[in-house]
Amino acid sequence: MQVIEKIKDVSNFIKELKAQKKTVGFVPTMGFLHEGHLSLMRYAKKVTDVVVVSIFVNPTQFGPKEDFNAYPRDMEGDKGKCLEAGVDILFIPSASEIYPEGYLTYVNVEKIADVMCGASRAGHFKGVATIVAKLFNIVKPDKAFFGQKDYQQAVVIKRMAADLNMDVDIEALPTVREPDGLAISSRNSYLSGAERAAAACLYMSLKLAEDRIGKGEKNSAKIIEAMQHIIQAEKLVKIDYIAIADTETLEEVKTIDRKVVIALAVWIGKTRLIDNVIVNPSP
Ligand code: AMP
Repeated sequence: MQVIEKIKDVSNFIKELKAQKKTVGFVPTMGFLHEGHLSLMRYAKKVTDVVVVSIFVNPTQFGPKEDFNAYPRDMEGDKGKCLEAGVDILFIPSASEIYPEGYLTYVNVEKIADVMCGASRAGHFKGVATIVAKLFNIVKPDKAFFGQKDYQQAVVIKRMAADLNMDVDIEALPTVREPDGLAISSRNSYLSGAERAAAACLYMSLKLAEDRIGKGEKNSAKIIEAMQHIIQAEKLVKIDYIAIADTETLEEVKTIDRKVVIALAVWIGKTRLIDNVIVNPSP
């Protein structure tokens, strides 16, 4: 595995690989790697010749009051995990390598980046779209892999790639969960024992929604109310939002007459967690 810090070095390496007609798979991450990230890398290894992983805690996607400084980091542990997953190139740029002095350019995806998590985290998806666009230009992947756990992120990236004619296939892969259903996240490491136990209510509420829709419920407001009941039973958990939305436009769906994403964000103490499921109503 090549561990590379400089853009020029990674570009040169990729050029050589492309000259050899190798296909490049790319998994961008912020590190503190877990089974969710590793599932993307293992999948990339199966479907592309060369797997590139980036680890970069991207300052532009964090708000001024968010957890950029506290975000968990473990570069040595991450290197070992990448090696084990068969990663070929690990790209770990510094912030000044990515955003040198005088940097002024950002990618702004409209509308779909302003709802759900975008409404709670102003500017978040502008930071995400910008870093992913930059990394795509550096790594030039044939395929890039994202987790469904960050569903809105995957939708925003797909929109950006299509709108800006980026020559890359984007795939969103299933959410990897703990045995009690909690979506694995680097931020789960912030939770105390009691908070971690309470966090099981996120997936419970999503399963309940799935179950109700399976039984024929089409009224989004009723489903959201039932989800609120489950989550509000946990005193440590505060709802940021619950949304039932079209899977592509992310517009609110009031009557569930098509495939929808049910997405939520909650606060557990100082930790903000997100999760979602995609549900197809029975005909
Ligand atoms: P992050 O390091 O949080 O920026 O995540 C890097 C990539 O891993 C993103 O595409 C995430 O959606 C994906 N990811 C994070 N957690 C999971 C999970 N539990 N299951 C599947 N993919 C995940």
